[in-house]
Amino acid sequence: MTQHFDYISIGAGSGGIASANRAARLGKKAAVIEAKHIGGTCVNVGCVPKKAMWYAGQIADALHYANDYGFKAPLQSFNWSKLVENREAYIERIHAAYARGFASNDVTVINGFAKFVDKNTLEVDGVLYTADHITIATGGRPSRPSIEGAEHGIDSDGFFALTEQPKKVAVVGAGYIAVELAGVLHALGSESHLLVRKEKPLRGFDDMLSDTLVEQMEKHGPTLHTMSVPTRVEKHSDGQLTIHLDNGKSIGPVDSLIWAIGRDPATDNINIESTGIKLDERGFIPTDKFQNTDVDGIYAVGDNTGRAQLTPVAVAAGRRLCERLFNNKPNEHLDYSNIATVVFSHPVIGTVGLSEKEAIAEYGVDQVKVYNSQFTALYQAITEDYRDPTRMKLVCAGEEEKIVGIHSIGFGSDELLQGFAVAMKMGATKADFDNTVAIHPTSAEEFVTM
Ligand code: FAD
Ligand code: NDP
Repeated sequence: MTQHFDYISIGAGSGGIASANRAARLGKKAAVIEAKHIGGTCVNVGCVPKKAMWYAGQIADALHYANDYGFKAPLQSFNWSKLVENREAYIERIHAAYARGFASNDVTVINGFAKFVDKNTLEVDGVLYTADHITIATGGRPSRPSIEGAEHGIDSDGFFALTEQPKKVAVVGAGYIAVELAGVLHALGSESHLLVRKEKPLRGFDDMLSDTLVEQMEKHGPTLHTMSVPTRVEKHSDGQLTIHLDNGKSIGPVDSLIWAIGRDPATDNINIESTGIKLDERGFIPTDKFQNTDVDGIYAVGDNTGRAQLTPVAVAAGRRLCERLFNNKPNEHLDYSNIATVVFSHPVIGTVGLSEKEAIAEYGVDQVKVYNSQFTALYQAITEDYRDPTRMKLVCAGEEEKIVGIHSIGFGSDELLQGFAVAMKMGATKADFDNTVAIHPTSAEEFVTM
């Protein structure tokens, strides 16, 4: 027997959960189909466990400062498996909260892997489901290079499955995940090597951010290996790995190798061809600003659309889609511009809007004014060790000096950004920032006193 719904989301990750709950709250008969764990990447193998590990790294850092703050608190041991146990217990509590949310909204949860039969019909383990509206919210999975021995490495999913701390680890990649995992592992005491194929990590970010990150890594971060492209991974009889590079060098032996070179969309085995949707050359689902695919009644949100691969983006796109479809808001859509983001690197980065280079390209060099600030955050100012510079930059455009980019690296850059992102979204100018009285003593105050 075929079960019919008003709305089905394929995938119960960030985008799927948010959209199905919203559809149900708007009175629609909604379902999610989930092949693995409710919560998707973010909850199970992404933001949540990553942030827990990052906090562990922060605590390890704080222990370095403890002595200068007058505490005699020698670090006696660090128990990785206890941290993992507590982290996973928290994730279980999130699963339970989602289950309660679905139950109270009356969202049906279907466990299994969904494939299209046709544009309105899905099949899960031999059972058919139809819906007037189907959202593909299948997310993505870590990419792997196609080199000999690549299978000996793990990826971010494998990192979160580690129940023991690797002693020596190589992380390959130059984006968010690579710098975050290499930073965490280093902070927790693993000998960590970060291998990037070009001149530095985070090349797409404002140079001030990536250059400061590199400067800090060189001082006390993971060992950075630039212009290093793995060509072969050799596995030794004791299980250790050596990574051979295109520059003739090699890294290792290490006991863990982590690939963090981007993510592929999970769109390849859902029989999407049967709907008439054409994927782009990388497998992403082309959508318009309303999340419509080329086929009526089928939408896509989140990582598989190839736009900003961030949880709040998938959530916001999914909710707005359902508001448009089911709440008589025909123009409701997500504005993808100026999305604030934090890289949980060591030190942490907060950034929104255009980099200095992007602003110059867009507005012309004469129309861009940049304000910079460098200081030592008070938190570290009284300590001997780890007295890192915090650096901040405002990128302004035009006569009125509209703020078009806000960039910060250093202690507190994660928590300070959200409010500034609101101001920027509202069109704030440098004068608006100047007219705001500072909160002292904070790092954030630098943005209104530059
Ligand atoms: P997902 O959350 O990936 O959900 C897709 C779901 O669909 C999965 O549960 C999958 O099992 C299911 N699925 C796939 N195919 C099928 C099928 N055919 N049938 C049934 N179910 C299916 N973002 C941030 O904003 N902040 C962070 O700090 C952050 N940290 C991250 C750290 C890591 C290590 C990673 C990997 C990602 C991180 N992200 C972060 C990104 C964030 O996790 C994603 O952007 C977000 O999860 C995307 O949501 P989604 O709904 O598109 O897909
Ligand atoms: P990213 O797309 O951020 O970065 C991957 C980088 O790895 C590329 O930009 C490239 O950098 C490098 N790379 C690509 N291919 C290779 C290769 N074959 N060999 C070596 N290096 C390669 O991907 P991530 O996997 O880090 O993360 C995926 C997405 O998940 C992120 O873009 C982000 O949207 C999201 N995420 C968000 C987080 C957050 O909000 N804090 C945290 C983690 C993930 P280059 O060209 O410079 O070599």
